[in-house]
Amino acid sequence: MDQCLFCSIVAGTVPCKEVYSDDEVLAFRDINPQAPVHILVIPKRHLGSLVDLTDDDQAVMGRLITVASRLAADLGVADKGYRCVVNCGDDGGQAVHHVHLHLLAGRQMTWPPG
Ligand code: 5GP
Ligand code: ZN
Repeated sequence: MDQCLFCSIVAGTVPCKEVYSDDEVLAFRDINPQAPVHILVIPKRHLGSLVDLTDDDQAVMGRLITVASRLAADLGVADKGYRCVVNCGDDGGQAVHHVHLHLLAGRQMTWPPG
């Protein structure tokens, strides 16, 4: 998709600090980290937001979570815990309209979120 920042990262035309890649998922460091560990896990295929999902997207959405879980273990933050967040739409605070799961770790998270 033209003009999608994260599609450009998948295509390699915008650089990123990659931490994981396979046929359908890419994970990279957030450019403006909100925690000592802040990684974005995205489907390589463009999906705009959670509101666009259909049953066909179940597998890749599940993989975002399992990849995040494995990265947390590999980075040594699984035991202390972490937070996974998917922002959706304006009220949800979604700025980039390509589905992404935030993996945040390395500090105590607070609740409720801002
Ligand atoms: P959202 O608010 O849409 O849930 O999160 C978008 C995230 O993308 C933000 O945390 C922001 O820092 C990150 N981001 C925006 N532009 C770039 C970029 O060019 N590269 C990387 N690695 N992250 C970005
Ligand atoms: Zn996209």
